[in-house]
Amino acid sequence: MSHHLPHAEQILKQATADRHTLLSLDFDGTLITRSETPRQVEFPEELRGILRRCAQRAQTTVIVNSGRAVEELRRLIQLDSIGYAGNHGLEIEVGDLVDTYADTEWRQLLDLCMERLEQLCKAYPDLVVHDKGFTVAVYLGALNIAGREAVTTACRDVISNLPGARITPGAELLNIRPAVPASKGTALTRIADWLADRVAPLPVWSIHMGDDASDEAAFVAAEQQGTAVLVGGLQSVTAGYQLPDPAAVKAWLNTFA
Ligand SMILES: [Mg+2]
Repeated sequence: MSHHLPHAEQILKQATADRHTLLSLDFDGTLITRSETPRQVEFPEELRGILRRCAQRAQTTVIVNSGRAVEELRRLIQLDSIGYAGNHGLEIEVGDLVDTYADTEWRQLLDLCMERLEQLCKAYPDLVVHDKGFTVAVYLGALNIAGREAVTTACRDVISNLPGARITPGAELLNIRPAVPASKGTALTRIADWLADRVAPLPVWSIHMGDDASDEAAFVAAEQQGTAVLVGGLQSVTAGYQLPDPAAVKAWLNTFA
């Protein structure tokens, strides 16, 4: 890759007219700055307008591809002209493509899990637990280090009694989810395949922008037939391009639109 141009310009040059661009955007840390109170974020009107214009662009499909639930993404973003992939690939809603993880036994297990986590919340009043329908997010951000360790251990304990469950750990957040291979990457591939049938003979060109380890699978998927853009200062083994922060993503989207 040439480094004579800033990355933002290099990425733009790839979205050419002889391709259909599938623009996949992570939410937290990519579209909006990460919040210590992720349950209370708002989506800025200006960014909504920019995303709306991106979606209206010729030969372009925009999706938000996040760990949040689709229902929550829809409530925050309030745009019907874009697609949504939520719960780390367990839910996909793009046009007439609707693909959600359906397992009633898993839901019963999650209910059990929630009961135990609610007990844990009584011991740790700063702990925030959010039932996302298909997964449960446990926010550790407001706890001190000892609290984080204790809650992490307690969650592993809860999980050990839930067949087919696993935890994806993060610094501020634990995600309790079914041990199935869904990810932001499987969602991106699924949507790209669905789109390919609709836009042929144009090839689909995917761009995924994301900021953390859960984006790595989408970076790998995007690199198969497009490009991967790391947002922020973390390391990525896959992403060939980098934008510094959500403000740079917004500026890029504004130019792209
Ligand atoms: Mg993120």
